Amino acid sequence: MPVGPWPYPLDMAIKPEDVYVIPSPPPSSVESVYLREVVKGFGITFRHMLTSFGQGKTSRTMQYPEQRREDLPLEKGGIHPGNFRAFHRLNKDEAGRVKCVACMMCPTICPAKCIHIVAGESPWEDREKYPVKFEIDELRCIYCGMCEEACPVDAIELTPVYDIVGMTRQEMIFDKEKLLKMYDLTINRKPM
Ligand code: SF4
Ligand code: SF4
Repeated sequence: MPVGPWPYPLDMAIKPEDVYVIPSPPPSSVESVYLREVVKGFGITFRHMLTSFGQGKTSRTMQYPEQRREDLPLEKGGIHPGNFRAFHRLNKDEAGRVKCVACMMCPTICPAKCIHIVAGESPWEDREKYPVKFEIDELRCIYCGMCEEACPVDAIELTPVYDIVGMTRQEMIFDKEKLLKMYDLTINRKPM
């Protein structure tokens, strides 16, 4: 059943009758012409123009890909590989096997519903199940990190790798093999 102004049905955890709408106070006659805001906006633009003057480029523009965030110190806008949230990987154990035990915690908690796992009986004695199939739709993911938080065995992690592209949507659905390859590619940069 459609809820609110959206044209499609929504599963809302909060019922519409439980939502309190707090009306904003009406703007004064000075505020309603937005003159102060326009002047303030021009002031900020002008300040940025002056602070960038003479550099041949704006001081706020990063020259990507020659310049990359991971090469910058944190205080200058760099990233911390340990907590940056980009593409996923599936971790391996000491024996090189996928660590995932197919407990289904991550697909259950994922708000974007972009993790799909097919569990099977484990061929190993130390666990009951393992993922026969493990897929993440990286275009649907919102990189919230909740899958990582929920995993009881630290099998799924987000990596600092943010610049993988695909020509098709299908290429951006990472399967188990690709997720395990991501582990090999990133384990030195982000140890477990
Ligand atoms: S990061 Fe968030 S949205 Fe992406 S797969 Fe994990 S839980 Fe889902
Ligand atoms: S939470 Fe961890 S162990 Fe459970 S299914 Fe997801 S990756 Fe596998």
